[in-house]
Amino acid sequence: MNSIINDLELDENLKKQAEELAVEYRFESWEHVDQVLYAYAKIKGFVWRLQNTYYRADGDISKKVFECSHSGMPRMRKSNNPNKTRNTTSSRVGCTCYINICWPKYDSNPCVTTFESNHKNHNLNIITANNHNEINDPDSDAFWLLEKLEIQQKDDPGMFIAKKIHQGRLFHIFWMDSNQQDLYQRYYDVIVTDNTSRTNRYQMALCFFVGVDNRNHTRIFAQALLSDETSSSYVWVLEQLLKANNGILPTVLLSDADTGLDAAIKNFLPNVKHVHCIFHIRQNLDRHVQRSLGENYTEFLSKFYSVRNSLNETLFNIRWEQLIELFPCANDYLMGTLDKIKES
Ligand SMILES: [Zn+2]
Repeated sequence: MNSIINDLELDENLKKQAEELAVEYRFESWEHVDQVLYAYAKIKGFVWRLQNTYYRADGDISKKVFECSHSGMPRMRKSNNPNKTRNTTSSRVGCTCYINICWPKYDSNPCVTTFESNHKNHNLNIITANNHNEINDPDSDAFWLLEKLEIQQKDDPGMFIAKKIHQGRLFHIFWMDSNQQDLYQRYYDVIVTDNTSRTNRYQMALCFFVGVDNRNHTRIFAQALLSDETSSSYVWVLEQLLKANNGILPTVLLSDADTGLDAAIKNFLPNVKHVHCIFHIRQNLDRHVQRSLGENYTEFLSKFYSVRNSLNETLFNIRWEQLIELFPCANDYLMGTLDKIKES
């Protein structure tokens, strides 16, 4: 569940909606799903875990499966010290509560398709219902991650760890070991940053900073887990990157076309040359203009790449105008989105 939602006081309306949760319950949006499910769990005294997210070919979410955080079987976790195994009780005790929510393409709302509301092998507890990434709860993954990083930091005192805690919960975390700092400080000229977007059970974004070393090997310079992908969260990550590396700025920063990151770089690192990665631009073309262009899409792509490969700005602008004239169906996206960022 999104941490921000956890800060909301449950209003009466949301409580009422949570009490109506059942098969065929219809939500307004995925955000509304999170709100109602959060309210339901808070009232009952447990925590949901996002078990899986399914996507349609157009990139939109078609289905989400949530399960009680007590479902599944215990995982073995050992600390780096073989004599010290964590003697905490796992929260995974084989509970069977889960809910499927589907949003088929032909439907206007997400809807509950399966709901197993009975819990097994654990008590419902209203007080502990918020603890799944509570940093002081020894059974939470957040506690475990911090413990693991702190053990690593003892062997590597130069390791940089920054965390943002919000109401006792891990909101963001960023870390770079000394070797990564050394690599960044040598090869900071071109840095690529990318996220895996909320594919884990806490719906946190895993953010990487990657570069290439003198042997042409791709190296991970830094990593972070973020509770959201807003521009202020990206500013926080960029601040940590600079703090860990004596303020050394990347010369060129490549990213996907994430609007939050775009805004953060523009405001926080105005002197860094920021460019969008062609791989992501191409992915977005598939998503936004392939359907409207139909069989003309292949021809469009070949013309698009010839614009991209222009050797000077004048030629680029001429070809860009021609592309817009030739493919009016793609105009909305080309003019509305890409035109604003074509410099990059
Ligand atoms: Zn349960």
